[in-house]
Amino acid sequence: MKKIYTKPRRDKKTERIAFLQKYAMEDWIKARKEADDEISDEHSMWCVCGKLCTGLHESSCKKFRDKVDGRAVMKLKHLWKENKVTFPKVLKQDAKQEGEK
Ligand SMILES: [Zn+2]
Repeated sequence: MKKIYTKPRRDKKTERIAFLQKYAMEDWIKARKEADDEISDEHSMWCVCGKLCTGLHESSCKKFRDKVDGRAVMKLKHLWKENKVTFPKVLKQDAKQEGEK
């Protein structure tokens, strides 16, 4: 049976990454490194995009980077749970500040 994919919530992911880069940079870098290694191990031969994998390809492949970002965000989801009140507030404030520029 054909799987039905719901539209990925890209905006939320982008938002979270921006937040993590700003307020939890160390965690973000660590999680990203872990995700990178894991996905790289899972796809030792072929990249997630279907091309032949080389170290050089992975670092420049958008699909691979996307997947790493997504997994890294998932790794830090405890941060969202712990701060589910604070994070949206700060994000909103940031958005407001950006708008005022
Ligand atoms: Zn690729």
